[in-house]
Amino acid sequence: MKYLVLSCWLICSGIVLGCSPSRPTQTLRISNVNIVDVEGKQIVRNQDIVIANGRIAEIIDHVAGRNGGTGSVIDASGAYAIAGLYDAHTHMDTASRQELMLPEIYETPVSASEIDDDLVPYMAYGVTGILVFNGNDDILAARRRAQEIGKFAPRILSAGLILDGPSSHNPLHLKIETPDEGVAAVKDAEAKGYDFIKTYHLESVEVRNAIIASAGELGLPAMGHLPPSMSFDEAIVPGFDNVAHAEEITRLWDGEDRQYLTHAIELMAQYEVSLTPQLVGYREITEEISDIDAKLAGLDWDLTPPFPRAYATPPFNGYVEDFGGDDMRGRAAAYFGRIADVMDRLTLEAHQAGVMLLAGTDAGNPTMLPGQGLYRELALLKDAGLDGFDALAAATINVAILFGETEDRGMIAEGKVADIVLFGANPVEKDKLERSDVVAVIKDGFLFDRARIAGEVARVSASYDAREARYLEEALRRRALKTERED
Ligand SMILES: [Zn+2]
Repeated sequence: MKYLVLSCWLICSGIVLGCSPSRPTQTLRISNVNIVDVEGKQIVRNQDIVIANGRIAEIIDHVAGRNGGTGSVIDASGAYAIAGLYDAHTHMDTASRQELMLPEIYETPVSASEIDDDLVPYMAYGVTGILVFNGNDDILAARRRAQEIGKFAPRILSAGLILDGPSSHNPLHLKIETPDEGVAAVKDAEAKGYDFIKTYHLESVEVRNAIIASAGELGLPAMGHLPPSMSFDEAIVPGFDNVAHAEEITRLWDGEDRQYLTHAIELMAQYEVSLTPQLVGYREITEEISDIDAKLAGLDWDLTPPFPRAYATPPFNGYVEDFGGDDMRGRAAAYFGRIADVMDRLTLEAHQAGVMLLAGTDAGNPTMLPGQGLYRELALLKDAGLDGFDALAAATINVAILFGETEDRGMIAEGKVADIVLFGANPVEKDKLERSDVVAVIKDGFLFDRARIAGEVARVSASYDAREARYLEEALRRRALKTERED
């Protein structure tokens, strides 16, 4: 038996040609790097990180001139290493979602390789993990593909189908009427291998509590919205793990009673419910309404996938369509800006009260962008008053804490999975990171250096252009058809 295992290991370690890439068995040494320790709030300077079999095998003080042994060596002098970043709130565009969100430009179902292409922006920005809030079979399949060693794709943690109330109009949500149905839905999600539960606008406290309790029993975090029909006392309960937007709290607030906001924070702190502020949303919407041309000019267009491109650009940008008229623009921008200011204060107060924060963007929804959006969110967390270490903790260790994975993930330490980003700038101090700051990304011990990342960016950017052209052609055709029919 032992020999069988050994020969398997030899064959799959890449010695035989034609094998799919396997976890590199040779060591990789990141030489002379500064390690960002978000928990200890320190930069540990001039270290060598030795990676073997996908994990961090050793971390030692760098000694100039010491040979790295047999494996490959990256000279990381002057660079900063941090645990791979997570975007703790994303959505993936699969066929069913595109058809629902943008029927006007929906053409043919996106292919598996196009779904994979849409994940490239995360990796190019050093986001080696994402939480996907709209689970379905296509996303489970994408998760399997993303697990292949050597694939330029982030780790995916996926919610099951979104659990919603019976009067929901969203055809992609599962409508739950009774506590028993809720428990069955959670069990089904667990059996299918989903990583967490997303609760939406459940209408009954009893049903929602049954779902939360069942998720807790099965070890699946319960994350999501606060139903608009419930009070904070009904919605922020023990066992609920994450409020997925600060907006969930401002929406239930009348804009007057500060004490009520404080009460939400107290409940979250008391019951250890984490918060994903998602500050980027209202800030970006405010900017789009105010000046869409400036907003589009500032995008990293090469790494903006076709559907987010469409969501961003008039006439398909719903915010600009609804609020961008000359009569509305100023008032609407002021309104969204005011809510964004409240969210900033709420975020800082929650942080100071001990509520764990996660950095999430809602990328995949209109206005929110994969990769680049997370850098904006990290910058906004700092603007709200978090220090640089705490902002980065929201994208690293805090996600591992929520999922009970700190043994394996969330920091750079011996024995942890080797998901690491190397930045050329100090990510703690720099106000806002840029893509050009990424020196290398290591995922499961597999190295993607600058050249490899640039190659992936060039490839998907060209593929996005082609898809975008296809979508626009289809959109114009449908518009023409519609006009013909109306004439
Ligand atoms: Zn969302």
